[in-house]
Amino acid sequence: MKCLNCDCEKFESKNIRFNPEIKGEEVEVVVPSFVCTKCQTPLMDGEQMNVLRRSAADKYRKQHHLLTSEAIIKYRASLGMSQAAFANYLKVGEASIKRWETYFVQDVVQDDHIRLKCDEAYAELNALEVHWKSQSSDIYSGNRPFCLELFKQAVRYLIGFTKIPLFLNKALFYADFKHFQQHGMSITGARYVHLEYGPCPDQFQNIYQLFLSKGVLISGGHHILKSIEKPDLSVFSDSEKEILEFVAKIAHTDGGKKLLKISHEEQAFKKTEPLQLISYEFSKKIMI
Ligand SMILES: [Zn+2]
Repeated sequence: MKCLNCDCEKFESKNIRFNPEIKGEEVEVVVPSFVCTKCQTPLMDGEQMNVLRRSAADKYRKQHHLLTSEAIIKYRASLGMSQAAFANYLKVGEASIKRWETYFVQDVVQDDHIRLKCDEAYAELNALEVHWKSQSSDIYSGNRPFCLELFKQAVRYLIGFTKIPLFLNKALFYADFKHFQQHGMSITGARYVHLEYGPCPDQFQNIYQLFLSKGVLISGGHHILKSIEKPDLSVFSDSEKEILEFVAKIAHTDGGKKLLKISHEEQAFKKTEPLQLISYEFSKKIMI
């Protein structure tokens, strides 16, 4: 091996910062490379080039909430499939699998397809979304159809005051039911179910799982959820914002402990059976 710059033949291994372009976007990675001991010009062997390409592709994927090469390999491994079998399962060419597992970034549609075929929770939620879209509004949704976007922004806003799903769920319940009480309509269209830990949004585990997989929420350990992005409150009307702020104010004092406690005293909870949907009619008697 000879340096391309100064003909020196002595090299050392170093971690070098590179800024390659992926799909027209510059990404920054730090990967091992040989450098000339005299002039520090980097020179990579084939193996190092592969690491660079794969690291750059994965950096791009992470920034765009796409599956990394490692995540795709994990899915395939969990199904116990060879690349050929996996390609057959996904109805794509084997070459695509080989590339996705290394340096070629799948597009958004392909990414969604892989998740749908490999991630049970994701597929379930996707089916739920279709289901919600076909559902009409009624007294269990607070007289409006469920809107995932509004629910998402309400979660982003209220998680800042409640930290964990146990308290977040109560804050969502109170926001939706309080708004129904005062304006005859819920904020998000969510349906609430009587669970042992109080009133909770229907299918909340699946929804939060989807939010985690799409980077809407991140896990902070010990059940703590966080939103990296600020909530977009412009999607809410003035009355909706007012109610969300009202509930947030109560949650702010103790993280939502009080909301949790009184939610178990609500008629909405006491007069419904476990696993039953809670009618928004109960909002008349709500205790906040
Ligand atoms: Zn050199």
